[in-house]
Amino acid sequence: MGANPLINLHNHTSYSDGDFTIEQVVDAAERGGLSHIAITDHFETRKVYCLQTAQFDEYLEEIQAAAERHPGVEVLSGVEIDTDPSRCDLEDLPIDLLNRLDIILFEYVDDSGSSLEELEPLLSQLRPLRGLAHMDIERIYSGREPDEVASRFRDFGMFVELNNALPYRRDGVPFYELASRYFEAFHGRVRVSVGADAHHSLEAVVRLDRPYRFLRNGGLTRDLLFHP
Ligand SMILES: [Zn+2]
Repeated sequence: MGANPLINLHNHTSYSDGDFTIEQVVDAAERGGLSHIAITDHFETRKVYCLQTAQFDEYLEEIQAAAERHPGVEVLSGVEIDTDPSRCDLEDLPIDLLNRLDIILFEYVDDSGSSLEELEPLLSQLRPLRGLAHMDIERIYSGREPDEVASRFRDFGMFVELNNALPYRRDGVPFYELASRYFEAFHGRVRVSVGADAHHSLEAVVRLDRPYRFLRNGGLTRDLLFHP
């Protein structure tokens, strides 16, 4: 493990719509030399097969057991929350359980889901690291200055993810690359993470050359979560 973190903080398992077990994903991360891996299954959404509140203890225990079997990688427990209120009962989420996690990803924020302002009552109760998953920043905030968007994310305490999965690209170009002028403004102000959003491939868990190249070329390596 070098000085720079090699993180992948967005992965699905058989607890939601992923194909592999927690053990398999964590094992792949350790073999691939990642410093940090987060398990972030969909939670209580009607959109996809997902982790249910009743499974929460079992889910955390399984993550903990995988962490103990794989001491070469730091394992974080997390979920991904769908912020569309027609699919997820955002006001009835089990806050105490969510506060046992290390990390929470929010999807569709400021887009087809809730705005950050609408989420604030929820966010104010949550202690884990919180971040914005697979945002199409350049489209969502078109017409807004990068500085303003950086302030917005910082004020709400959100990190922003470089999502490496194929659905989050336009003409083959990842959303984060299309938003490079926004990422310039995030430097020193908004933390960034890398997420494979792996569902169906263990290779995808560790094949992260493209987002890390983007971070290096943009001088953003120090903005990465867990950078010392
Ligand atoms: Zn996801």
